[in-house]
Amino acid sequence: MKKHNFYAGPSILSEYTLKNTAAAVENFAGTGLSILEISHRSKEFVAVVDEARALFKELLSIPDGYQVLFLGGGASLQFCMVPYNLLNKKASYLDTGTWANKAIKEAKLFGEVDVVASSKADNYTYIPKGYTVADDSDYFHITTNNTIYGTEIHTDYDVNVPMVADMSSDIFSRPVDVSKYSIIYGGAQKNLAPAGVTFVIVKEDALGKVERAIPTMLNYKTHIDKDTMFNTPPVLPIYSALQTLKWYKELGGVEAINKINTHKAQKLYDAIDGSKMFRGTVTNPEDRSIMNITFVMKDEYKELEKEFLDYAGTKGIVGIKGHRSVGGFRASTYNALPESSVDVLIAAMKEFENK
Ligand SMILES: *Cc1c(COP(=O)(O)O)cnc(C)c1O
Repeated sequence: MKKHNFYAGPSILSEYTLKNTAAAVENFAGTGLSILEISHRSKEFVAVVDEARALFKELLSIPDGYQVLFLGGGASLQFCMVPYNLLNKKASYLDTGTWANKAIKEAKLFGEVDVVASSKADNYTYIPKGYTVADDSDYFHITTNNTIYGTEIHTDYDVNVPMVADMSSDIFSRPVDVSKYSIIYGGAQKNLAPAGVTFVIVKEDALGKVERAIPTMLNYKTHIDKDTMFNTPPVLPIYSALQTLKWYKELGGVEAINKINTHKAQKLYDAIDGSKMFRGTVTNPEDRSIMNITFVMKDEYKELEKEFLDYAGTKGIVGIKGHRSVGGFRASTYNALPESSVDVLIAAMKEFENK
């Protein structure tokens, strides 16, 4: 039976990505060797890295003065690398969920952290608004998509200081005005590649402003100076990322992808809103994520949640169990998820309701 993969991460990859990655494991770029066993300094692999960086710049219209890096350590290492490299005295953070919280915790090791607003008291069911960011902040950190809670910041804010964004779970889902950010980072395993590579888009002139000594591997400058090849990069995930980027280009780029995503998400939100059994957990429609759609069963049907999960499983639906901090269900509708999978989920919800 065809599986419908709604996992939150690692998550669905395009067939194009999977097919080309599998082929390169057999024979990479006509070398007669597997991508798993070649030098990262071979001309064939250097070409992969160069093309992946170029496609990042093209698809996101990244202006001059920015570098694209492919690092290890996950988005979680960026929680510490960002303040290590950028926080002189004070930084501002928006607390929109578990990941934002983890970023805040690391930043506190390096200086004063001003949490401008938090939706924690309401279990992060909305994106706070109407706060001010101090003019003397070195940067303002946001988490654009809250993978666990299903909320998303859909636009690039206008604030008085440069922004830093964790875009782990919504990169390439919409156009971004990169010029407003000092750094955009994310783990690749949500919308780009298998786990193991972290992308970092960094503005070069935002660096070099802190006094502290920075360990070599944690210094963005190290990786910029060596064209993201200071040490052995995650070779296979970078190769897969390149395949996904090529596929994104073929789809028509981020504007076209955004249209598809918005349509897919709206369909599912409409089904949830129109249901007598389910309800969404994000109250303000404008804060609803188009990448992770969180919903639960209404109180009177609560005890049927497990039964629905099992029923969905019989339809090939995988990965919709909600995160333990929200409960219920989470359907991750990343770029690579076909609309037909959303249709299958909606049909399963309706059939279950009618039973
Ligand atoms: C998954 C996720 C992370 C954690 O990424 P790792 O690569 O596992 O460190 C951080 N932030 C967001 C928004 C995520 O979705």
